[in-house]
Amino acid sequence: MPRRVVHHNWVYQSIGPAVWDQNQISERRERICEAVRREISLLSDSEREFMELYWFQGNSTSEIARILQRKRYNLENLNRCIMRKLKNRLAEFVEEEFGLRSVYRSECVICCHPEIEKINQRLRSRGTHETYRRLIRLLRTDYGIRIKTPQTIIGHLKYHTREES
Ligand SMILES: [Zn+2]
Repeated sequence: MPRRVVHHNWVYQSIGPAVWDQNQISERRERICEAVRREISLLSDSEREFMELYWFQGNSTSEIARILQRKRYNLENLNRCIMRKLKNRLAEFVEEEFGLRSVYRSECVICCHPEIEKINQRLRSRGTHETYRRLIRLLRTDYGIRIKTPQTIIGHLKYHTREES
């Protein structure tokens, strides 16, 4: 994050050490790294392997598809799932560290289901007679997802899916 470093230095030089404490910046960076590292270590082996190849080594998804002999769109789904997971799990940390409120307040049980694409299709093509109650039952019987309130589905559709035209 060179630009951010430059920015901090610029602020430091213009305003001075009384306002901007350089130690605080590196302490914050240290806390962020630690929190991210901790969450990455809790991912599954295949998720960590993908993280390493994509985010740390900078391979493209098509390169990784070749390396791992997997379909590219599966890897793209995997990436989205990992990012959601990290956002969910880091939400509390972000809220404390930056005083922000995250829409990824709680972990979404729908997002990390392996058949997420199919589920999204079912949810989007909700019939006029299909109530949330029926959807909740459907998620339980067909996909083993247990949710208690329609808010989970509503929030999922609102924040976690892209509208497809
Ligand atoms: Zn979701």
